[in-house]
Amino acid sequence: MLNCKETTQLASDRFERRLTLTERMNFLMHIMMCPFCRRFSRQIGWLHDLFHKASTLPDDQLAAIGQKLPLDRERLARALRDQDRQ
Ligand SMILES: [Zn+2]
Repeated sequence: MLNCKETTQLASDRFERRLTLTERMNFLMHIMMCPFCRRFSRQIGWLHDLFHKASTLPDDQLAAIGQKLPLDRERLARALRDQDRQ
């Protein structure tokens, strides 16, 4: 059985590459039993969706959203543009 560190790594990896059948089964078994990794997995999924959607927005809409966030706007805009290039 995977530990929490291995499970959170797979939670990230699944957006970068296709997990093997064994990895998927071990991942699912762990998150069924561990509420912390289940929450982490859900949250990283939301973040992935958010960045994916944000990368398709026109600059003015992205800027409007950025105005509302309590983040370093320059850094966020740079991160989104960098992701868009990949
Ligand atoms: Zn866990």
